[in-house]
Amino acid sequence: MKSSSEIIRTARSLGIGIPAFNIAHLPMTEPVIRAVADQDSFALIEVSRIDWMKFGAKSPAAVIDEFNKWVKPDHVRMHLDHVPVIDEDGKRVDYRAVISDAISRGYQSVMVDASRLPLEENIRATREVAEIAHKAGVPCESELGAVLGHEAGPLPPYEELFASGKGFTRPEEAARFVRESGCDWLSVAIGNIHGAVSEATRDQKKVEARLALDHLETLAKVTGVPLVLHGGSGIKREHVLASMKKGIAKINVGTEIRQAYETGLKTGGSVAAAQDAVYERTVSLIRDWFGLSGIRSRILA
Ligand SMILES: [Zn+2]
Repeated sequence: MKSSSEIIRTARSLGIGIPAFNIAHLPMTEPVIRAVADQDSFALIEVSRIDWMKFGAKSPAAVIDEFNKWVKPDHVRMHLDHVPVIDEDGKRVDYRAVISDAISRGYQSVMVDASRLPLEENIRATREVAEIAHKAGVPCESELGAVLGHEAGPLPPYEELFASGKGFTRPEEAARFVRESGCDWLSVAIGNIHGAVSEATRDQKKVEARLALDHLETLAKVTGVPLVLHGGSGIKREHVLASMKKGIAKINVGTEIRQAYETGLKTGGSVAAAQDAVYERTVSLIRDWFGLSGIRSRILA
């Protein structure tokens, strides 16, 4: 079976960004996998600590159990998304225990997020987790720069943020970070933002984000590793498509399919209706938005 590491490397060389769909509610797993398979596409299924702490994913164990019920190995792999060292509420997390436990349960790649810490500490925490992951033969993703949105409170005005480049991943730091931490994939901040998590704002539509594509190209060149785009829903489409040609090999999608599920549950009144909504939205993202129908054979070749 082709490993997640090889899959993302292949995607990078083909100029394809593999979507990674967040499971915020357990019943989303089945329709997402079915949509990927029906489109003859390829995706990662992922869960972040926020998905189980603040939404309905319950735990990493619950998600991989659900994944194993529906898995189609020609179409999906399981990834552990954001396990922060310091979380969105400023609390310390026992990230090593969470990540080691997930690896022992069969997660095929993991992410540690120490991006709220100073560079040196981010390098140290990432190196530690990369070593744990590599011992088990799985790749490690990490984040450098500030991909905002998870924190409570209002975002700074988007246009101001974009124009100033504040929080963007800095090329000289990124090169050093990858070299010294040994991370395999790097999540970068290039204008992308996370969907809102706080109770007050989580139902709102995201602002349309843009991407600093020249900046991305520089980051890809100086790091030499596949880059990851977080906050992949709600970015200007031409920018998302261009980003795949310039170094983005994995694109995280959370808010859009979560909101499809929650709206489906409210208006349709049943889990089945919510699952239908997730299926439809996932199909349309893969086929119409990302243009990734039929990529399976090229990814697995
Ligand atoms: Zn993220």
